[in-house]
Amino acid sequence: MSGIKPEIMSFIAQLSPRQQQYVLAQLTAGKDAYITLHIFGKCQRCGEEYKKIQAKITLNNIYFYHRKITGSRCYMGPENYIYVSILNKIVSPLHGAVVQKRILKYIERVEKYIRMITDIKEIEEIENILKDLESLIEFRKNQLKK
Ligand SMILES: [Zn+2]
Repeated sequence: MSGIKPEIMSFIAQLSPRQQQYVLAQLTAGKDAYITLHIFGKCQRCGEEYKKIQAKITLNNIYFYHRKITGSRCYMGPENYIYVSILNKIVSPLHGAVVQKRILKYIERVEKYIRMITDIKEIEEIENILKDLESLIEFRKNQLKK
């Protein structure tokens, strides 16, 4: 998919297959794509809480909006900031202690995150951490067997 920036591609990669198909078709046809994301949050700009936001995806940029209580549309600010916080939603929200074995859920989200990484250095950094964790797991297993 030439012409689409890598960071926009990695955003598209986390959408549902149906949304991906729609967005890629729109962009390929030279049109903008509009999708709704069901994400809870509080707008940094107007302070209102939202349950979903709209993303306008173009070849070069992604713009995020939410609908205010009054019905008007609120542009949510610099796209990079919003983009980063939406990506962070993959690992957050952190579950409270009521969620059993929540660490397993975090690890599942990390798997999803790793699938979207486009930077080889970031993959290698994660690989190094995982090697350390693997050694630690081996060590803990042996400790617990005793
Ligand atoms: Zn707002």
